[in-house]
Amino acid sequence: MAIDLRSDTVTKPSAGMRDAIAKAPVGDDVYGDDPTVNSLEERLATLFGKEAGLFAPTGSMANQLAIRMLVAPGQELIAETNSHIVRAELGAAAVFSGITTRTWPATHGLLRAADALEIARPDSGPYLVSTTAIAVENTHNFGGGTVQPIDEIAALRKGADQMGLALHLDGARIWNAHIATGVSFKEYGKYFDTISVCLSKGLGAPVGSVMLSTKERVSSARIWRKRYGGGMRQVGILAAAAHYALDNNIQLLAQDHRRAKELAVAIAAIDPSLIDPQGVQTNIVGLDLAAMPFSAAELAQRTRDAGLWISALGPKYARLVTHMDFDDEQCAQAIDILKKALVAK
Ligand SMILES: *Cc1c(COP(=O)(O)O)cnc(C)c1O
Repeated sequence: MAIDLRSDTVTKPSAGMRDAIAKAPVGDDVYGDDPTVNSLEERLATLFGKEAGLFAPTGSMANQLAIRMLVAPGQELIAETNSHIVRAELGAAAVFSGITTRTWPATHGLLRAADALEIARPDSGPYLVSTTAIAVENTHNFGGGTVQPIDEIAALRKGADQMGLALHLDGARIWNAHIATGVSFKEYGKYFDTISVCLSKGLGAPVGSVMLSTKERVSSARIWRKRYGGGMRQVGILAAAAHYALDNNIQLLAQDHRRAKELAVAIAAIDPSLIDPQGVQTNIVGLDLAAMPFSAAELAQRTRDAGLWISALGPKYARLVTHMDFDDEQCAQAIDILKKALVAK
């Protein structure tokens, strides 16, 4: 059996989760009749201190519904250069919301409030586009699982308030940030006008994300979700998996973080230019192959031939992501495979 570290989305529902799915009470969620979806939306809203939640099939849709609520057509959202919203949602904000985006670069995606606030241009008048919202990604995926410092988030909120700007949190992996820092979900929640969270990444559910905000924004987003083709029927079977994930799997992320660190330490021992293990804060191990005589695609092919799947996300950038279906024994095997693949010319 191959070891798959391409993403934390590759997990399969456990026996316990499948049991919860089988037993879930369901109804037609387009009519608001699915009790398991309703309780999931309420549960997550309460967890993050928000008024309401909306179940969505993907994190991209949850992000895009939030953006739609915050930014009017012709206005601007700003975000970090390598954020998921900007790079991995295929231009959805332009296509669906008719908005523009502008970006600030940050090393490893690490948030500095000043970087965002410096490029924000609210109320730009009749000739230039006006910024209306800022998006923050926590943890930062392409940054290598970077956790955003809570004091920078607080400073961003303060600056955004002074400029009259809204804040969106792309919290696909906010669970990992919470486990790494101990900062509560409510604390994270209080700085943002809209939040999206994913149940299908580290928490191991097969499908599902939730958008969180005020009652007013969520009821409007419900209409847009239907318009986007995201109105789902007896979808409590998926919400039950999400409940199960919240009940059982958040604490398991600490193991993913420990194994990611072990991978990073072993890889740095081969060549310290590949990764700084200090920078591995959560479950993502990003390898910089700049000093290596092979590309990320070549490395991914070599490890794949040896039974380890990793992602080549750039010409010289490879990514390994730990998850709940990856154990200590596989971690030792992965290290062996990487040792051989990384020393070969
Ligand atoms: C995975 C991810 C999403 C959502 O992705 P979907 O595949 O649409 O569910 C959003 N933001 C970040 C940072 C992600 O890593």
